[in-house]
Parts: sequence; structure tokens; C-alpha cells
Amino acid sequence: MFDEPSVYDVLGIGFGPSNLSLAIALHEMGDVEGRPLAARFFEQQPSFGWHRNMLLPSAKMQVSFLKDLVTFRNPHSRFTFVSYLHEMNRLARFINNCDFFPTREEFHGYLEWAAANFADQVTYGATITSISVPPDSGPGDPIDRVRVNLASGPTGAESSSVEARNVVLGTGLVPRFPAGLTSDDRVWHSSEFLGKFQRCDTTKLKRVLVVGGGQSAAEIAHFVYDNVPGVTVTAVIPSYGYSIADATPFANRVFDPSAIDDYYYGDENSKDAFWRYHRNTNYAVVDSNLISDLNRKAYDEAVTGETRLRFAELSRLSGVRRRDDGVVVSIHSMLSNRTSEVDADIVICATGYEPMEIGDMLGPLDRFCIRDEQGRYRVERDYRLATTEHLRCGIYLQGGMEHTHGLSSSLLSNLAVRNGDISTSVARRAQSQSHDDGRVLQGLVPTGS
Ligand SMILES: Cc1cc2nc3c(=O)[nH]c(=O)nc-3n(C[C@H](O)[C@H](O)[C@H](O)COP(=O)(O)OP(=O)(O)OC[C@H]3O[C@@H](n4cnc5c(N)ncnc54)[C@H](O)[C@@H]3O)c2cc1C
Repeated sequence: MFDEPSVYDVLGIGFGPSNLSLAIALHEMGDVEGRPLAARFFEQQPSFGWHRNMLLPSAKMQVSFLKDLVTFRNPHSRFTFVSYLHEMNRLARFINNCDFFPTREEFHGYLEWAAANFADQVTYGATITSISVPPDSGPGDPIDRVRVNLASGPTGAESSSVEARNVVLGTGLVPRFPAGLTSDDRVWHSSEFLGKFQRCDTTKLKRVLVVGGGQSAAEIAHFVYDNVPGVTVTAVIPSYGYSIADATPFANRVFDPSAIDDYYYGDENSKDAFWRYHRNTNYAVVDSNLISDLNRKAYDEAVTGETRLRFAELSRLSGVRRRDDGVVVSIHSMLSNRTSEVDADIVICATGYEPMEIGDMLGPLDRFCIRDEQGRYRVERDYRLATTEHLRCGIYLQGGMEHTHGLSSSLLSNLAVRNGDISTSVARRAQSQSHDDGRVLQGLVPTGS
């Protein structure tokens, strides 16, 4: 299946925006030691897709279009969002919108357009199942390459493996459900929303429950209310009401490239302060326009006497029971300290995501990874997992390093600079492996420093 080379310089697991940005950074870096680094990416989806199930009509990006795959690292790149607009012949019209925040649908178009340029480096429909030590490696040998095992084919039954000197984990986040719930035909996660919505007979939807107080929850409540005639939407919100996402200029600096150093080299107190004061820039918060829209709908109902949009504030879902024609949902109110039951046709859990458990993926390599006092992985400034001397190949993280690199770790804000750092680090290591004197590669200065 894979002819050349026998060992890749870089192997990316997942091909979302993070590893796409890396593919571009490696491409733009050019030759290292007289040849381009050999990179391959494996993506479990059949084709490129960025949170397709949440591409709701008119949903907007929450970062400026200038925080695209490349601009912060290389504004001259041909993979900027502006370059995409130019190629689509929409640049002038985009500018006339006077809006820094394109729709997610348009940004998805941009990402697809960029990804198409790297199609020859990506294997779609291939799930990486584990990473292991190559079988020809002796017990005491230093590990300078790893074997990456994958499942592919229409049923996922075909297994094969490839080897690499550096692995970059860009697998994104894993959907989180309320305790005890799993996905089925009546219980959906927001990450499945549009796909399931399009497949269901919406004429039969009368009562929809949306759980969560963040952006996705608010978007889904809004969308279902507008798109399913006569439906009653009950929003179960853990707070007293949707809270606004702080997108003001001073607070937004927590996403600047320089904030990574401030966070990384800060002590525990300063790290805590980042989260304490600025969590509301992204986590469990909602855009102000969307809050206003939902509030307007609720107010209009108060005027007309309609009650299709309901809010269960300071409440949590505490259980779901199946019935022939739907589900019975238990909702615990922190206001009354009582649990009540509500009938619903479907429950949509917009209850967020959690980091992938990378220990499962790393398998036998996990024991070479160094942890901090709290048991978390140590991550170098260049996003490489800190390992014992024995493990010489690089395992890099694109996500799951909030504790070391701060608030933007799973976001788009720092993709471009982060991937400049990772590609530079990989190049330096490639060079020092072939030059024992360890001279620094000319011209490869970390972009984030
Ligand atoms: C609805 C929604 C909207 C968002 N909007 C914004 C926004 O406006 N601004 C912002 O900064 N952030 C936003 N985010 C945060 C989001 O995490 C980033 O936008 C972005 O997706 C991060 O890119 P990624 O490549 O790290 O992860 P992902 O986009 O999640 O990509 C990971 C990829 O890895 C693949 N994969 C996973 N496991 C394997 C495996 N074992 N083998 C092979 N492939 C695998 C997945 O299929 C996926 O394609 C949003 C998130 C959501 C859910």
C-alpha cells in the first residue's frame, strides 16, 4: 500500500485544521539536508471535513479570518484565507461585508480548498489504532522510529502499518455526554447534529430538549426553533442563563502567539490566573448576537403568549428513560433542588468535548513519557512530549496541552505559529541526527519566539 519511503520523517494522525496547517508549514519550509521531509497524514473520515455536523446555516467563526492556517507564521503564503477568496473571485465582496468573521461554511470551504493541495500526502478512511515499537528493535536499543498501526478499507478490517521518526497527534477532541448517556436514535451529541437531523423525520418532532449552556447548545436551540415548525424547544442550562463570550480586545490577547510563552514559562499562580480570568473567552460561553437573538424570540413569545421556547435554568439532566414514542428526561433543578420529568422526542447533548486519552494510543511508548507531579504529560515548548532518553523519536501534540501551553491549545488561534514551531523542531532534529556536531540549521528560527 505504501511504496516510499520505508520510514517517514513526519507522520500526522488526523487531518483536521491542525495537521493541515502542519502539512503547509512543512511544504513551505522546503528542503532539509538537501531533500524535503517525507510526511504522510492519516485521517479516519472518508474525505476532509471540519465539524461538518455543526455547519449550521449562517453560523459564524469565532476567530478572525486572519487566524487562518498560515497568516501568523507566513502572511506571504499562498494558503491564506485572502488567497482563497481571491481564487474564488470573492475578495472584493468579502471586504464589502466589513466582517472579520466569515461563516463556518465559508471557512470550511477554505480548509477544503487548502487540503486539496495535499491530497497526495493524506490517506483518508484510515484510522490509526495504536503506536508501537518496531519489532526489529531490541529491548535495550534506543527507539529512533515508531510503528504506527492503522485500520482502513470500507469496513475498517484491513490493517497495515507504517514507520516514522516523528509522529504528530492531531486527533482533536472527543464528544462528552452527561454521565450514563450514550448516543442513539433519540439521544444525540452536538457533534452528530446535522447528520442526524437531516436523516430524521422532522415532521414528527414536537418536543426537543437541548442540554448545555455554550455556543453549540445555543446555536442548536436557535436552529431547531427556526427550522421545525411548531416544535417546543426546552434548553436545559447549567447556569442561570447563557453567558457572553468575552471577545473584547484586551482579553483576546490571551490567544496571541506571545501569550503562549507567558503561559508556558509562568508559574502555577499565573497559569491559574489565565484560566480564572479568561476562561470566558471560549469555554461555555455564547456570542452576544446569538444571545440577543434567542432573548428576542423569548420576549416575542412573552408578547404573543406562545411558549415554544423554554428555559430550565440552573438545571442539569440527571437521566433519560426510553419509551415507545420517545424519551422521558429527568431534570434536576438547583433552584428548587427537585427533579422533574419532561417528555421529549429527542435530546441533544451540546455538553462539550474532552481531550483524547493519548495514553491509549501511545500504548507501550507511554512508559517513556515523563509526567508532572499531577500525573499530566510534560510537554516541551516545541510541543514535543518530554520523554526519557531512550525514546529518541518525536511525539508532538496538537491539542491536549492546555496545562502547558494554555487556552488556545485546541483552538484555531495559534495553529499557524504552532506548526511553524513543530516543523522547525522536526527539521532541527532531522539535521542533528545526520550531523553529530549538532550545528543549528541556518534560517530555521522558531516563529513563535
Ligand atoms: C462546532 C465547532 C466550532 C468551532 N469553531 C471554532 C472557531 O470558530 N474558532 C476556534 O478557534 N476554534 C473553534 N472550534 C474548536 C476546534 O477544536 C478547532 O476549530 C479545530 O477543529 C481544531 O483542529 P484539530 O485539527 O486540532 O482537530 P479536529 O478538527 O477535531 O480534527 C481532528 C481530526 O482527526 C481525525 N482523527 C481522530 N482520531 C483519529 C485516528 N485515530 N486516526 C485517524 N484520524 C483520526 C478526526 O476525524 C478529525 O478529522 C470549534 C469546535 C467546534 C466543535
